[in-house]
Amino acid sequence: MARFYITTAIDYSNGDPHLGHAFEKIGADAIARYRRLAGDEVRFVIGMDENSQTILQPAAEAGLTPQAWVDRLAGVFADTWARLGISHDDFIRTTEPRHTRAVVEMVERIKQAGHIYRGTYEGYYCERCEAFKQEKDLVDGRCPEHPDREIAWTKEDNYFFKLSEFRDPLLKLLDDHPEFVQPTIRRNEIRNVLKEGLQDISMSRPHRIWGTPFPDDEEHAVYVWFDALINYLSAIGFPDDAYHEWWPADLHVIGKGITRFHCIMWPAMLMAADVELPRTVWAHGYINWEGRKLSKSAGAPVTLDSAVERYGPDPLRYFLLREIPWDGDGDFSWGRYDGIYNAELANDLGNLANRTLAMIHKYRDAVVPKGAGTPLDDRANAILDGYRSAMDSHLIHRGIAAAMELAGDANAYVEERAPWKQAKDESLAAELDTTLSALARALGRLAILLSPIMPVKMGELWRALGASDEPAGMAAYAALDLAGRQVDRQAVLFPKPE
Ligand SMILES: [Zn+2]
Repeated sequence: MARFYITTAIDYSNGDPHLGHAFEKIGADAIARYRRLAGDEVRFVIGMDENSQTILQPAAEAGLTPQAWVDRLAGVFADTWARLGISHDDFIRTTEPRHTRAVVEMVERIKQAGHIYRGTYEGYYCERCEAFKQEKDLVDGRCPEHPDREIAWTKEDNYFFKLSEFRDPLLKLLDDHPEFVQPTIRRNEIRNVLKEGLQDISMSRPHRIWGTPFPDDEEHAVYVWFDALINYLSAIGFPDDAYHEWWPADLHVIGKGITRFHCIMWPAMLMAADVELPRTVWAHGYINWEGRKLSKSAGAPVTLDSAVERYGPDPLRYFLLREIPWDGDGDFSWGRYDGIYNAELANDLGNLANRTLAMIHKYRDAVVPKGAGTPLDDRANAILDGYRSAMDSHLIHRGIAAAMELAGDANAYVEERAPWKQAKDESLAAELDTTLSALARALGRLAILLSPIMPVKMGELWRALGASDEPAGMAAYAALDLAGRQVDRQAVLFPKPE
């Protein structure tokens, strides 16, 4: 059995989850669920980045200790992921002892190998990114990610990581393993950064009041990015040997704003510590509202709560993953959400399910009849190939499009076969069996293909087709046989809004 270790970026403990956080978790969850469906053994890890100095201010404003603050937020995030059906196997928090232990080990290994020295840093530091910025990266003298904030000139005594030594090995990595950074546009950006050359980076902050103490110098805190990246190792038990069970990671899912940390700093840290590199870093895009990054739009026109409440968690998962290409940016708008919900979920999919189940009920006493293979089955098998190649390439939006072709074909098949006419003529009984059994199989296959996207709704559909469990794995798809199953005319899957 193949193993698949997938992670998302861990979330900053300085504010509530928003739609951008949700998009990343939902996409990674769809990939994790797809891999399980394909038969892999999956480890899916998400978590919280709690060692940031930026939590101190909101914690103080809320009248909480830093630890009480991060505990509260970890609860809020965990509840949100449960509500959205995220199927993670672990939830790592960087304040946990298991994480601190891994950070200490990594710093020590890198130090032993001679890649750390002491020095003085002078330059711009964005408190919000928690990153030093070069002058050429600033826009109008400000951090491009945080244009509303002044950026401070900072001078401090630090430990440095010899990042500059890793420029050539990293360029070679991109040549030898183009799959290391995806999609391609992000790889090209990283290559350009590397070509300009790398500077050594500070890997500590002086005057620690919060964060992981620097080994052998507790006055300093480990630089928060250096600390946070190690969560991918600490979550699987590093430095105990057991971590080899899952390492190297197959896929780090992150947002396109943090590629430099994941595609330059992280592999350099691993090379320095002589730890294997992850296979792929996938950088997704942003959700925009009228062309602006949603999380930065003033007075958020759509909150995560309002988006979930509109039609429930599964339709939101479907809409985000279908509408925002997993390899780029996309727009959120209520009009578009309503349109997709009505056209694709309520009509194409929901209506197909409702009418098929109703006809099996009415014409065949609620039992799926036996029936030979049909052109609709041939189409379903061709669609599976397209779906798999899209999902194997992490192009979730294309996987959804492939699956929905099957819904379209099944709806055309209903019109073409007109089972309500076949039902009126006793001599067409075998034809009607063929029609209804083919439609039942199409629904079962849709439940399989779309279960990574809408796990709850597709579980309901699968059980309405007479099963007691969750949708079958990919292996059962081609020869799916539902004959003899007792269908349930359950509640409408995707009710039309009033
Ligand atoms: Zn910034």
